[in-house]
Amino acid sequence: MNIEGLLKLALIDPLDARILLAHALKCTRVQLVIRSKDELTPQQVTEVSELLMRRMQGEPIAYLTGEREFYGLRFEVTPDVLIPRPETELLVELAKERLPKGGSALDLGTGSGAISVALAYERRDAKVTATDISDAALAVARRNAAHHAVNVQFVHSDWYANVDGQFDLIVSNPPYIAASDPHLSQGDLRFEPRSALTDGANGMMHIGTLIDGAPAHLTPGGWLLMEHGHDQSAATRALLERAG
Ligand code: GLN
Repeated sequence: MNIEGLLKLALIDPLDARILLAHALKCTRVQLVIRSKDELTPQQVTEVSELLMRRMQGEPIAYLTGEREFYGLRFEVTPDVLIPRPETELLVELAKERLPKGGSALDLGTGSGAISVALAYERRDAKVTATDISDAALAVARRNAAHHAVNVQFVHSDWYANVDGQFDLIVSNPPYIAASDPHLSQGDLRFEPRSALTDGANGMMHIGTLIDGAPAHLTPGGWLLMEHGHDQSAATRALLERAG
Protein backbone atom coordinates (compact mmCIF):
# COMPACT_ATOMS: atom_id res chain seq x y z
CA MET A 1 0.00 0.00 0.00
CA ASN A 2 1.23 3.51 -0.83
CA ILE A 3 0.13 6.99 0.37
CA GLU A 4 -2.15 7.50 -2.64
CA GLY A 5 -3.87 4.17 -1.97
CA LEU A 6 -4.42 4.90 1.70
CA LEU A 7 -5.87 8.34 0.94
CA LYS A 8 -8.34 6.77 -1.53
CA LEU A 9 -9.51 4.31 1.11
CA ALA A 10 -9.97 6.89 3.87
CA LEU A 11 -13.66 7.47 4.59
CA ILE A 12 -13.12 10.89 6.14
CA ASP A 13 -12.74 14.46 4.90
CA PRO A 14 -9.74 14.41 2.47
CA LEU A 15 -8.00 17.33 4.19
CA ASP A 16 -8.35 15.64 7.61
CA ALA A 17 -6.93 12.45 6.07
CA ARG A 18 -3.90 14.31 4.73
CA ILE A 19 -3.26 16.02 8.07
CA LEU A 20 -3.36 12.67 9.89
CA LEU A 21 -1.18 10.94 7.29
CA ALA A 22 1.43 13.70 7.41
CA HIS A 23 1.38 13.51 11.21
CA ALA A 24 1.82 9.73 11.31
CA LEU A 25 4.53 9.71 8.64
CA LYS A 26 6.25 12.76 10.18
CA CYS A 27 6.30 14.68 6.93
CA THR A 28 4.64 17.75 5.41
CA ARG A 29 1.50 17.63 3.28
CA VAL A 30 3.63 18.63 0.25
CA GLN A 31 5.90 15.64 0.88
CA LEU A 32 2.79 13.42 0.87
CA VAL A 33 2.23 14.42 -2.76
CA ILE A 34 5.89 13.95 -3.72
CA ARG A 35 6.02 10.56 -2.01
CA SER A 36 2.51 9.46 -3.01
CA LYS A 37 3.75 6.29 -4.76
CA ASP A 38 6.18 5.31 -1.98
CA GLU A 39 5.40 1.94 -0.46
CA LEU A 40 4.49 2.12 3.26
CA THR A 41 5.63 -0.42 5.83
CA PRO A 42 2.89 -2.60 7.39
CA GLN A 43 3.51 -0.78 10.67
CA GLN A 44 2.91 2.60 9.02
CA VAL A 45 -0.30 1.30 7.42
CA THR A 46 -1.54 0.07 10.81
CA GLU A 47 -0.66 3.34 12.52
CA VAL A 48 -2.39 5.47 9.89
CA SER A 49 -5.46 3.22 9.72
CA GLU A 50 -5.87 3.50 13.48
CA LEU A 51 -5.81 7.31 13.32
CA LEU A 52 -8.29 7.33 10.42
CA MET A 53 -10.64 5.03 12.37
CA ARG A 54 -10.49 7.22 15.44
CA ARG A 55 -11.27 10.27 13.31
CA MET A 56 -14.22 8.38 11.78
CA GLN A 57 -15.53 7.95 15.31
CA GLY A 58 -15.39 11.71 15.75
CA GLU A 59 -12.19 12.27 17.76
CA PRO A 60 -10.96 15.83 17.19
CA ILE A 61 -7.98 16.22 14.85
CA ALA A 62 -6.16 18.26 17.52
CA TYR A 63 -6.26 15.36 20.00
CA LEU A 64 -5.12 12.90 17.32
CA THR A 65 -2.12 15.02 16.33
CA GLY A 66 -1.60 16.43 19.85
CA GLU A 67 -1.39 20.01 18.67
CA ARG A 68 -3.30 23.09 17.53
CA GLU A 69 -2.18 26.49 16.32
CA PHE A 70 -3.37 29.49 18.30
CA TYR A 71 -2.32 33.09 17.73
CA GLY A 72 0.34 31.85 15.30
CA LEU A 73 1.92 29.62 17.94
CA ARG A 74 1.92 25.84 18.16
CA PHE A 75 0.19 24.54 21.30
CA GLU A 76 0.35 21.03 22.66
CA VAL A 77 -3.17 19.80 23.45
CA THR A 78 -4.36 16.67 25.22
CA PRO A 79 -7.87 15.50 26.16
CA ASP A 80 -7.23 17.23 29.53
CA VAL A 81 -7.61 20.66 27.93
CA LEU A 82 -10.06 22.53 25.74
CA ILE A 83 -8.88 22.83 22.13
CA PRO A 84 -8.09 26.56 21.68
CA ARG A 85 -10.60 28.27 19.35
CA PRO A 86 -9.79 30.97 16.78
CA GLU A 87 -12.41 33.35 18.27
CA THR A 88 -10.47 33.36 21.56
CA GLU A 89 -7.58 35.04 19.71
CA LEU A 90 -9.65 38.24 20.02
CA LEU A 91 -9.20 38.10 23.81
CA VAL A 92 -5.41 38.02 23.37
CA GLU A 93 -5.62 40.92 20.91
CA LEU A 94 -7.71 43.04 23.30
CA ALA A 95 -5.55 42.14 26.31
CA LYS A 96 -2.35 42.95 24.43
CA GLU A 97 -3.64 46.43 23.51
CA ARG A 98 -4.96 47.30 26.96
CA LEU A 99 -2.20 46.05 29.25
CA PRO A 100 -0.01 48.97 30.43
CA LYS A 101 3.76 48.72 29.87
CA GLY A 102 5.27 46.34 32.42
CA GLY A 103 1.74 45.59 33.69
CA SER A 104 0.38 42.47 35.31
CA ALA A 105 -2.20 40.12 33.80
CA LEU A 106 -4.16 37.20 35.25
CA ASP A 107 -5.62 34.44 33.02
CA LEU A 108 -8.22 32.45 34.96
CA GLY A 109 -8.87 28.89 33.74
CA THR A 110 -5.92 28.82 31.39
CA GLY A 111 -6.39 25.24 30.11
CA SER A 112 -3.68 24.62 27.50
CA GLY A 113 -2.24 28.04 28.39
CA ALA A 114 -3.43 29.43 25.07
CA ILE A 115 -4.29 32.93 26.33
CA SER A 116 -1.55 33.34 28.95
CA VAL A 117 1.26 31.97 26.78
CA ALA A 118 0.22 33.96 23.69
CA LEU A 119 -0.06 37.14 25.77
CA ALA A 120 3.33 36.59 27.43
CA TYR A 121 4.82 35.87 24.00
CA GLU A 122 3.43 39.08 22.53
CA ARG A 123 4.14 41.23 25.59
CA ARG A 124 7.56 40.28 26.96
CA ASP A 125 7.33 43.22 29.39
CA ALA A 126 4.20 41.86 31.08
CA LYS A 127 3.97 39.85 34.30
CA VAL A 128 1.55 37.05 33.46
CA THR A 129 -0.08 34.76 36.02
CA ALA A 130 -2.36 31.89 34.99
CA THR A 131 -4.57 29.55 37.00
CA ASP A 132 -6.47 26.35 36.51
CA ILE A 133 -8.34 24.01 38.82
CA SER A 134 -6.99 21.03 36.85
CA ASP A 135 -3.45 19.85 37.61
CA ALA A 136 -3.43 17.93 34.32
CA ALA A 137 -4.27 21.12 32.41
CA LEU A 138 -1.56 23.07 34.29
CA ALA A 139 1.01 20.45 33.25
CA VAL A 140 0.09 20.98 29.58
CA ALA A 141 0.12 24.78 30.01
CA ARG A 142 3.57 24.66 31.67
CA ARG A 143 4.95 22.67 28.75
CA ASN A 144 3.51 25.17 26.29
CA ALA A 145 5.07 28.08 28.19
CA ALA A 146 8.44 26.27 28.25
CA HIS A 147 8.19 25.42 24.54
CA HIS A 148 7.72 29.09 23.66
CA ALA A 149 10.25 30.22 26.28
CA VAL A 150 7.85 32.60 28.01
CA ASN A 151 7.62 33.43 31.67
CA VAL A 152 4.16 32.66 33.07
CA GLN A 153 3.53 32.00 36.74
CA PHE A 154 1.11 29.09 37.04
CA VAL A 155 -1.08 28.70 40.12
CA HIS A 156 -3.37 25.82 40.97
CA SER A 157 -6.59 27.58 41.86
CA ASP A 158 -10.38 27.38 41.75
CA TRP A 159 -10.89 30.79 40.08
CA TYR A 160 -9.62 33.43 42.57
CA ALA A 161 -9.24 31.06 45.55
CA ASN A 162 -5.40 30.92 45.59
CA VAL A 163 -4.79 34.24 43.84
CA ASP A 164 -3.18 37.05 45.81
CA GLY A 165 -2.79 40.69 44.88
CA GLN A 166 -4.17 42.92 42.17
CA PHE A 167 -3.72 42.92 38.42
CA ASP A 168 -3.93 45.51 35.68
CA LEU A 169 -5.93 43.07 33.62
CA ILE A 170 -7.91 39.89 34.16
CA VAL A 171 -8.73 37.71 31.17
CA SER A 172 -10.73 34.50 30.96
CA ASN A 173 -12.49 32.15 28.57
CA PRO A 174 -14.64 30.39 31.17
CA PRO A 175 -16.88 27.33 30.69
CA TYR A 176 -20.05 29.19 29.72
CA ILE A 177 -22.10 26.61 27.83
CA ALA A 178 -25.41 25.73 29.50
CA ALA A 179 -25.63 22.10 30.59
CA SER A 180 -28.80 21.74 28.50
CA ASP A 181 -27.13 22.95 25.27
CA PRO A 182 -27.36 20.19 22.63
CA HIS A 183 -23.96 21.24 21.20
CA LEU A 184 -22.31 19.46 24.15
CA SER A 185 -23.21 16.15 22.54
CA GLN A 186 -22.04 17.14 19.04
CA GLY A 187 -18.70 17.28 17.20
CA ASP A 188 -15.42 17.96 19.00
CA LEU A 189 -17.20 19.00 22.22
CA ARG A 190 -18.06 15.34 22.97
CA PHE A 191 -14.35 14.65 23.50
CA GLU A 192 -13.34 17.78 25.40
CA PRO A 193 -13.28 18.03 29.23
CA ARG A 194 -16.84 18.74 30.32
CA SER A 195 -15.58 21.01 33.11
CA ALA A 196 -13.87 23.21 30.48
CA LEU A 197 -17.11 23.66 28.56
CA THR A 198 -20.00 23.96 31.02
CA ASP A 199 -20.68 24.91 34.64
CA GLY A 200 -23.28 22.14 34.79
CA ALA A 201 -25.96 24.82 35.21
CA ASN A 202 -27.20 27.68 33.01
CA GLY A 203 -23.72 28.70 31.81
CA MET A 204 -23.62 31.96 33.84
CA MET A 205 -22.24 30.57 37.10
CA HIS A 206 -18.50 30.98 36.40
CA ILE A 207 -19.05 34.28 34.59
CA GLY A 208 -20.69 35.46 37.83
CA THR A 209 -17.72 34.25 39.91
CA LEU A 210 -15.26 36.06 37.61
CA ILE A 211 -17.24 39.30 37.85
CA ASP A 212 -17.82 39.15 41.62
CA GLY A 213 -14.13 38.61 42.35
CA ALA A 214 -12.83 41.19 39.88
CA PRO A 215 -13.09 44.43 41.95
CA ALA A 216 -10.87 43.00 44.72
CA HIS A 217 -8.28 41.73 42.20
CA LEU A 218 -8.07 44.66 39.80
CA THR A 219 -5.93 47.77 40.13
CA PRO A 220 -7.94 51.03 39.78
CA GLY A 221 -8.91 51.39 36.12
CA GLY A 222 -7.98 47.76 35.41
CA TRP A 223 -9.72 45.62 32.79
CA LEU A 224 -11.77 42.43 33.02
CA LEU A 225 -11.94 40.73 29.61
CA MET A 226 -14.13 37.65 29.23
CA GLU A 227 -15.55 35.46 26.54
CA HIS A 228 -19.26 34.59 26.89
CA GLY A 229 -21.95 32.83 24.90
CA HIS A 230 -23.72 34.50 21.95
CA ASP A 231 -26.93 34.78 24.00
CA GLN A 232 -25.37 35.81 27.33
CA SER A 233 -24.66 39.47 26.58
CA ALA A 234 -27.57 41.01 28.52
CA ALA A 235 -27.12 38.71 31.53
CA THR A 236 -23.35 39.41 31.61
CA ARG A 237 -23.91 43.18 31.40
CA ALA A 238 -26.42 43.00 34.25
CA LEU A 239 -23.90 41.17 36.46
CA LEU A 240 -21.18 43.70 35.58
CA GLU A 241 -23.45 46.62 36.46
CA ARG A 242 -24.45 45.00 39.73
CA ALA A 243 -20.75 44.59 40.63
CA GLY A 244 -20.13 48.25 39.85
N1 GLN B 1 -8.20 29.48 28.35
C1 GLN B 1 -8.24 28.29 27.57
C2 GLN B 1 -8.68 28.61 26.15
O1 GLN B 1 -9.19 29.66 25.89
C3 GLN B 1 -9.15 27.24 28.18
C4 GLN B 1 -10.57 27.70 28.34
C5 GLN B 1 -11.47 26.65 28.94
O2 GLN B 1 -11.03 25.52 29.21
N2 GLN B 1 -12.71 26.99 29.14
O3 GLN B 1 -8.50 27.84 25.25
